[in-house]
Amino acid sequence: MSFDFIKSCFYEFLSYFVPQKINYKIEGKCLKCGECCRQIRSRGLKNNTELKFMQFILPHYKRFFITGKDEEDNLILSCKFLTDDGKCSVYNSRPQVCRNYPAKHIPYNAEMIEGCGFKVIKKEFKDYL
Ligand code: SF4
Ligand code: SF4
Repeated sequence: MSFDFIKSCFYEFLSYFVPQKINYKIEGKCLKCGECCRQIRSRGLKNNTELKFMQFILPHYKRFFITGKDEEDNLILSCKFLTDDGKCSVYNSRPQVCRNYPAKHIPYNAEMIEGCGFKVIKKEFKDYL
C-alpha cells in the first residue's frame, strides 16, 4: 500500500466532510445604492412566524419587514432604517451584520444584488489542493 494511496483515501474521506466544494471571494466596492438593505435575502426564513422567532432570538431582526419572496420561497426583507435615497439612518449604530457586509469570504452559495459594485469570485475546490 503506497503512501499516495493512503493520502488519496484520506482526502476522499475528508471530502465527505467538506460541506460545499466551492468557496466564494467578494471583490469590488460599494456604490452606496442601498439595494442590499432594500432586498435582504433571508436564506431559510419562509414565513412571518419564522421571522418573528428570529426577531425574538436576534433583536436586530426587528428592523426588518417582509417585502416578498425569492424563487426558493425564502423571505425577502427590507430595513425600516433605510432612507428614500438609499442611506442608513442609523449608520453609526447599525448592527455588526451590516458593518461586516459583504463578508470577504462566504462558504455558501453567494450572489450579489444586480447592479451592486461587489462581484462574487468563485474558487473551485481544486484551487485549494
Ligand atoms: S447593493 Fe452593493 S453597491 Fe449597493 S449599497 Fe449594497 S453593497 Fe453597496
Ligand atoms: S441598519 Fe442600516 S445598514 Fe443595516 S440594513 Fe438597516 S439601513 Fe441597512
